[in-house]
Amino acid sequence: MAQIRHDCPHCGTRKSAFTSFGERRSHINSSYTIVAYYCHSCGSGVLYEYFYKSGGAGFTKMEGNPAQTGAAQVTNYYPQTIERTAPKHTPENVAEFFRQGSVALQSRSWDAAGMTFRKALDVSTKELRSDLAKERLVDRIDQMAKDGTVTPELGKWAHEIRISGNDAAHEDQPFSEEEANTLMGFVDLFLTYTFTLPGRLAERRQPPGAVDETS
Ligand SMILES: [Zn+2]
Repeated sequence: MAQIRHDCPHCGTRKSAFTSFGERRSHINSSYTIVAYYCHSCGSGVLYEYFYKSGGAGFTKMEGNPAQTGAAQVTNYYPQTIERTAPKHTPENVAEFFRQGSVALQSRSWDAAGMTFRKALDVSTKELRSDLAKERLVDRIDQMAKDGTVTPELGKWAHEIRISGNDAAHEDQPFSEEEANTLMGFVDLFLTYTFTLPGRLAERRQPPGAVDETS
């Protein structure tokens, strides 16, 4: 089985070990072969495309990195990066912060990711509750949990994660990998609850193409 080192687009592990588990020669041009690899860290897969000079022996029978043996040349691989998009119905500006946060996470920039997800959360809560815009983010979410804009569980969770930029204990510390990932999970759920679910309900009440009789 061929082995390569590759920055995993799924789990973000730098130079993770990948082992081949399948291959297919192109039926258009037999010099090209697609090889499937799985990541030893997370088990997810990537595909490599090789230009194989001598028409060749199976990659899956080969030991080591095919490109390093000189037998094959990498012509492409994918996915190159995986961008997470915000849950459906999230307002565009919030969705853009979410997207940027996921890109930062992808490049293992934990602090940039953490701050961008926090920004997404901050903007989304202000969007939902402009009357609470002057409150600290965590207090705003508290208030939203109290009046039922979000569930009490989400409100409680908000206290367990780093979302407050005014937190003196944390202000000078960059986000860790775990903190950035936890924050993304929270923001994802928060947006799903506050935008996706109401959006889907609204869609259900008014099927596409239906005439709005209230207007
Ligand atoms: Zn991985």
